Amino acid sequence: MSLPRVAQMALRPVIAICGTTGVGKSKLGVELALKLSENIDRHGWTGGVVVNADAMQAYKGFDTITNKIPPGERAGYVIGQWIHDATRAISDAHDSKKVPIIVGGTAYWIQHLIFPGRLAVEPEQVSCPDSSPSASTVSPSDGLLSALSQVTVDLRSLFDSLPESPPLAADDPGAALALHNLLQALDPDVAARWHWRDTRKVLRNLEIMKNSGRKVSEVLQEQSAASLRPRYDTLFLWLYAEPTELKRRLDIRADEMLENGLLDEVRTLTNLASPSDEVGSGSGTTASSINYTHGVFQSIGFREFNRYLADPSPSEIKFQAAVQNLKTANHQYAKRQITWIRNKLLSAVRASKSTTGVGMYLLDATELQKWSSDVSDVASNLMEAFLRCDPLPDPPSLSSAAQRMLSVPAKAAATDPTAALLAHRKLLCSVCTVNDALPVMIEEGSQWAAHVKSTAHKRLAAKQAKRKERVHDVLPAATVSSERGRGDNRWRPY
Ligand SMILES: [Zn+2]
Repeated sequence: MSLPRVAQMALRPVIAICGTTGVGKSKLGVELALKLSENIDRHGWTGGVVVNADAMQAYKGFDTITNKIPPGERAGYVIGQWIHDATRAISDAHDSKKVPIIVGGTAYWIQHLIFPGRLAVEPEQVSCPDSSPSASTVSPSDGLLSALSQVTVDLRSLFDSLPESPPLAADDPGAALALHNLLQALDPDVAARWHWRDTRKVLRNLEIMKNSGRKVSEVLQEQSAASLRPRYDTLFLWLYAEPTELKRRLDIRADEMLENGLLDEVRTLTNLASPSDEVGSGSGTTASSINYTHGVFQSIGFREFNRYLADPSPSEIKFQAAVQNLKTANHQYAKRQITWIRNKLLSAVRASKSTTGVGMYLLDATELQKWSSDVSDVASNLMEAFLRCDPLPDPPSLSSAAQRMLSVPAKAAATDPTAALLAHRKLLCSVCTVNDALPVMIEEGSQWAAHVKSTAHKRLAAKQAKRKERVHDVLPAATVSSERGRGDNRWRPY
């Protein structure tokens, strides 16, 4: 079966290769680029240009730049900057009659590059860290203005001077709760999405409001209303290998990286993180003082081996343990990549298919000895048909792996930002909240269902019921009945 395909005359073509780490995406990208330079007469393009979409690699170059940006804004800045650079590279490629081939393990980036308008803060709004603070010239929306006019003086001054980095909820619950209260006052739907302990997300949402001059829920509603329109006419290729085989390949690659000096690289990075000429830093950077959640320190391998290198008494056993941790981290990372592609990117591609006519194609790279028949040939045939606007095959028909992996039920929350917001509401458990300064919040749905069945919750509920009975003995009957009517497991949306 083949699909009719409308030529996207207004949109220029792009080929996007996604997939897990270690599956051969770069190899395929180069192969396709070579193919394009061979068969010029068949489609009119003179070659291909590979554009990298990999956060793990891009972070290395970004690190010195991102140090100038408040930590809460870094993730948004990096993707915004990357999209800005990538669209420029793609435009240059098109102008020189070359087909851009986007290759990367960060499907999230590819998704936002191809489907614009879904980032809370778009690349155009990313303020340059070196420029003067002219970003504050945006005039706030009526919705934000009216919400701001109703908050207390304390919350208003908190909004005007947001902290540069999110407070740690464990160390400073007061500051964490104040930020959540501010979000609750300004944008209750968004506040319901995040636990007050998740200070990074709470602060990020407040920053978006401050920078964009609009409530986050307003931004999301606009995004939900707009359909997913791609920036380019895109052929999506998902390079896939069965988990058992992929793990084997990842382990081999990890061993090779260690042989080729991964440890030296970690040493260099540790030194970069602690410049020796820093005034007053006598001790240098230690494993415990590095924030592994930012920039290059997120890179797989760094955390595992930096701890090993910092160990005062290294041993073969400790080394092997670090190697094993590295391999496990690789497997988990690959698993997360597949989850994103299946749940998010695939849904977005499907939702936009009515306008593009192009689906996502899975290429089975499980058997390396069959690479040319299972991967190269299939990919170049698809690419040629795509560039000539010929009919394309039905994606699940390509292989049994394609049939299995591409069959995911459509979920509104995967493509609709407002549905996603409402799908993860946190509820306040009034039974378990014994201290109002530390409210207990649980996610609606299965987590809440499990929570009310938990021993801790039941014990507190029983205790409170007993206490109530004692109180009821001395209260008028009317009060007793109204109290009983509300039941034990009272809860309210926070
Ligand atoms: Zn509870």
